[in-house]
Amino acid sequence: MHTKTLAQLSAMLQSKQVSATELAQHFLDRIAASDLNAFLHVDTALTLEQAAAADARIAAGTATALTGIPIAHKDIFVTRNLRSTAGSHMLENYVSPFDATVVDKLAQAGMVTLGKLNCDEFAMGSSNENSYFGPVRNPWDKSAVPGGSSGGSAAAIAARLAPAVTGTDTGGSIRQPASFCGITGIKPTYGSVSRYGMIAFASSLDQGGPMAQTAEDCGLLLNAMVGFDDKDSTSLERQPEDFNRDLHQSLQGLRIGVPKEFFGTGLAPDVEQAVRAALDQYVKLGATLVDISLPKTELSIPVYYVIAPAEASSNLSRFDGVRYGHRAASYTDLDDMYRQSRTEGFGAEVKRRILVGAYVLSHGYYDAYYLQAQKIRRLIAQDFAAAFEQCDVIMGPVAPTVAWDIGAQSDDPLANYLADIFTLSTSLAGLPGMSIPCGFGQGEKNARRPVGLQLIGNYFAEAKLLNIAHQYQQVTDWHQRSPE
Ligand code: GLN
Repeated sequence: MHTKTLAQLSAMLQSKQVSATELAQHFLDRIAASDLNAFLHVDTALTLEQAAAADARIAAGTATALTGIPIAHKDIFVTRNLRSTAGSHMLENYVSPFDATVVDKLAQAGMVTLGKLNCDEFAMGSSNENSYFGPVRNPWDKSAVPGGSSGGSAAAIAARLAPAVTGTDTGGSIRQPASFCGITGIKPTYGSVSRYGMIAFASSLDQGGPMAQTAEDCGLLLNAMVGFDDKDSTSLERQPEDFNRDLHQSLQGLRIGVPKEFFGTGLAPDVEQAVRAALDQYVKLGATLVDISLPKTELSIPVYYVIAPAEASSNLSRFDGVRYGHRAASYTDLDDMYRQSRTEGFGAEVKRRILVGAYVLSHGYYDAYYLQAQKIRRLIAQDFAAAFEQCDVIMGPVAPTVAWDIGAQSDDPLANYLADIFTLSTSLAGLPGMSIPCGFGQGEKNARRPVGLQLIGNYFAEAKLLNIAHQYQQVTDWHQRSPE
């Protein structure tokens, strides 16, 4: 049952081959037997209650395509009935009085919540090692990281602990862990998915999205997740659309832009080979490859690591030990209470970002760093606009290497930042991006570490991206492989 896609599970539920309760129990058993540290909170009774309600809905004939299908949420989405920690000691015992819009929409569709997934603290990281609750193991190779920050989400899909999960992507956190764990994930156009109830990291970049085994499954989930929300000030008001409407379109004549900056030094040869083989496959499907350039790619790292910390330092100022979250047990006065609570509540990477953010926003440095970064951010978006005059989609690697060993880079923040080189620019421009599995690394160590192909589309081209991904998944089986 756990190897089935959402589309298959949906058909099984509707034809009563399996009940939502049986399905939920099956995944709960798998979660209980797993040693990946992917799940932070599970409440069996709550899950089975939701499953019983889904069964009643199916019996009453009012089910949607997603009713009765289990899902787990990244622990950055707040939930009324389960703790919401954002991977932080600061929120270790926090229970939200409301559900995030995304959680609510998927529940309205009848999905059954399996629990909450481990992630880097406040979604800051690329390896899931920044979680207060410990690292997540990559199901393909337990000595490797699953990627981050949605590492628990990606590991849960790869290990078939859940058929669907949510993730968030601020600078790559859906695409990169999807790549490292050999699963499919899509970050939609900024503003498509409501940020209400997504614990904020960098508000002008944060975007939720689905992760699953296939592109078709991601489309089914997107259909339920996307939509205007008046509780999110940057939410986009658009006509509802069926993101899977173009799945079966031919790719004949598709122009694929291949940015030279994504294939330069620093790209591991085994990753390059897998990605080039995927491009060849697309040529066989009727596409043509177009050489393009995204000249500001290199600048996306300094730009992102100015803007994201700036926004984070502002967003995280709410955690003061007064309103909610961790409060130090002993302190001398009010200032000391703030200081102690934040010192104890935040981990090293979060503190590093707050310091950098406060610095680049401070009087005297604002013009030199923050304003400058905003200007280059605009130029990065213009690079993409120029590229999309020559091609319909951009393709390249998601990350320069396959997953690294747990611990190998944990005291080297810069090495982690550099690994974001291919995902940050999409986020800075607000474009939709996707990762689909396209092979494995090479050599004794990397042969069991997946490689992802990145697909970048123009604004609102999600249906096109899903079409392009789906066609590839019709002629390849990387997405069907599982570590077992
Ligand atoms: N790795 C990037 C960071 O550490 C991106 C994280 C994300 O997308 N949430 O900020």
